[in-house]
Parts: sequence; structure tokens; C-alpha cells
Amino acid sequence: MRQIKSEFDNSIFSKQPNFDEAQMRKDFAKAVPLETVVIYCYDPRAVGIPSAVAKQFGETYPGEIITDERNNKVASTTSLFEVVVAGGRAVDALRSITVAQHLFGIKNVVIVHHTHCGATSFTPDGIIDAFQREHEQDISALYDRNNIAISDFAASLQHDTLLVRQSKGTPRHVDIYGYVYDIDTSELTLAIEDKRSA
Ligand SMILES: [Zn+2]
Repeated sequence: MRQIKSEFDNSIFSKQPNFDEAQMRKDFAKAVPLETVVIYCYDPRAVGIPSAVAKQFGETYPGEIITDERNNKVASTTSLFEVVVAGGRAVDALRSITVAQHLFGIKNVVIVHHTHCGATSFTPDGIIDAFQREHEQDISALYDRNNIAISDFAASLQHDTLLVRQSKGTPRHVDIYGYVYDIDTSELTLAIEDKRSA
């Protein structure tokens, strides 16, 4: 463990001799022209979501990795970042939104829930009971029940767009959108639009 630690120290920005956090942040901001963070489900069938959102918002995705003269990967042309989590529930993306803003700046947060999602196949009670039986663990107080499963897309997207809006880690200027993605047709349907930029 100790050997691994020192071996990779030269890849830790904050460990470099002349580390200047403010300057580093300026350099990062120039490295990726980020505009949109999209939150969606880790279901393999949902893999088309970032492309569909990029098309909808005119974003560059996946873009290209930019290398320097030593062939090190130092930047990217993408303007869309993905946060891939169970059900595309926003609760798991709040910290990523804050970090994306801090390093690159963002304009849009897009939350996408999809048809035939596994998160619609169980209930909060069902998963809590099963965990108790199968793993002898009480997870009833671990997660807010409103964030665990999906029983209604209007409700889940309303909840998640509001959760992102009310988070202190969300910059006030961002526009927040909630979409349903049809797994079979690859179409996005807008459900919620909370714009601040107009
Ligand atoms: Zn899903």
C-alpha cells in the first residue's frame, strides 16, 4: 500500500511542489468546455441517453481527448458530463454537480428517468424487507424513501429536479430539466423545465 502511494504521488495535482490551487482551478476551467451535466440510469439499455441529451441541447459529446506534446491526456472537447446511477435518481448526483461547477462551470442539469427501468420494479418497502431477510441489515433509515424507487415519472422527476434546485451545492444560475427516455424508441420527452437563465 505504501509503495502504491508514493508511486502515484506525481499524478496528484495537490502534491506537486509548486501547487497553486487558484491557478490550478483556472487551468481546469480551460481544459473542458463543460455546459451540461446529465444524470441517468446505469441500465445498459439507457446508454443512448447522453447522446440524445447532447443532440437536444446542442452539446459536444463524447468529443475528443486532447493530448499535449508529450502525448499526455490533458483536456477534452466534450461539453457534457454524465452521472450514471441507479434509476437516474438525483440524490446520488448532488456532489458531482457541485464539483462540476467548481472545476469547469455548468449551465444545465438534466435528469433523465427511463421506461421499463428496474427502479420501477420494486418498492421502498420491498427492498428494505428483502435486505433485512437476505443480508440481516436494516436499511430503513439509510435512504429517504422518496429517492429509492420510481412509481411515477411525473413524481420522480418533480422530486429530483426540486432536490437539485434546493441543494446548496447547486449554483443558482443553472437551468434544470427532467426528461423521460423511451428505451425502445430512444426518444426524450420533456416533463419538467426549471429555467433561471432567461
Ligand atoms: Zn433504469
